[in-house]
Amino acid sequence: VRAGGDVPKQFRPLGGARVVDRAIAAFAAHPGVDAVWTVLDAAHLGDVAGNVVAGGATRQASVCNGLEAIAAAGGAERVLVHDAARPMLPASVIDRVLAALDGAPGAIPALPVVDSLRTGADTVTGEVSRDGLWRVQTPQGFRFDAILAAHRTAAEGATDDAEILRAAGHVVALVEGDEMNMKITGEGDHARLEAMLRVSRTASGFDVHRFGPGDHVWLCGVRIPHTHGLLGHSDADAGLHALTDALLGCIGAGDIGDHFPPSDPKWKGAASDRFLAHAAALVRARGGIVDHVDVTLICERPKIGPHREAMRRRISEILEIDMDRVSVKATTTEGLGFTGRSEGIAAQATATVRA
Ligand code: MG
Repeated sequence: VRAGGDVPKQFRPLGGARVVDRAIAAFAAHPGVDAVWTVLDAAHLGDVAGNVVAGGATRQASVCNGLEAIAAAGGAERVLVHDAARPMLPASVIDRVLAALDGAPGAIPALPVVDSLRTGADTVTGEVSRDGLWRVQTPQGFRFDAILAAHRTAAEGATDDAEILRAAGHVVALVEGDEMNMKITGEGDHARLEAMLRVSRTASGFDVHRFGPGDHVWLCGVRIPHTHGLLGHSDADAGLHALTDALLGCIGAGDIGDHFPPSDPKWKGAASDRFLAHAAALVRARGGIVDHVDVTLICERPKIGPHREAMRRRISEILEIDMDRVSVKATTTEGLGFTGRSEGIAAQATATVRA
């Protein structure tokens, strides 16, 4: 495994683990791999656990240093050379490269070119057949003695180790690569992999508030005229409270009472949209995206239907997500229980977050 660079993308976190650690883990977890050596810039030797080797001035020199370190440690039968900027290496690619080394001194994973190829600058000057063209990935696999000897006598300037082996007169086999085994070159690649690695989490919330004197209630951020008000320390918006708890549950961040203690006078009469906005901000701070939320209001009165769209719109504004990701539903309990006796309103909510 090779890692380095001025601003080492290999040390950036990706889905909770560093890029370089993901690459190393792909080999460490493979039954056909006995040892992993990581070649690093001298400044980063302490940043990776296990066998580390200082790299050289060029990619070629770095790989050569790694091979010499393995030789000094007793050598090996076969060696795989991988770019640490490919963190999502499937075990099946390692399988294929290792298997091909039974029949050839070198083997590389590759994928066919699928896009049409053209030459030109501002205008097209020619067409290039993609037949027989391959996009080469790593790990490149070699019989150890052959690649070590080839590296020791290689001229500078090879693009990869397979080229060095071929220059020494050896055959390099092509095996199938994998689209997942992509290389992180720019910010877009990192963001694409992050998006693929997001894990979806769903949690629920529940809340109840009791009716009391008043002429309106707040539900899902909407003021609704009513024969009673709802009692509570804040504005008693059971819908937003349940939804706030659902979002907090998705990221394991406790409940609404932990963040806004009812004992704290500053939340007296507070509008509950700030509670929900706070939970959404916590989700975003963890790199999360709110995929979908769903609230069910449980009461006989007031009628929710006429306000449902306004509620969805308000929640979508607070969460800064599209309205089609917000659902508000209502039900009665057929006159049964405290909601049936119109003693209070209950709300339950579900949220799904990708983080
Ligand atoms: Mg509440």
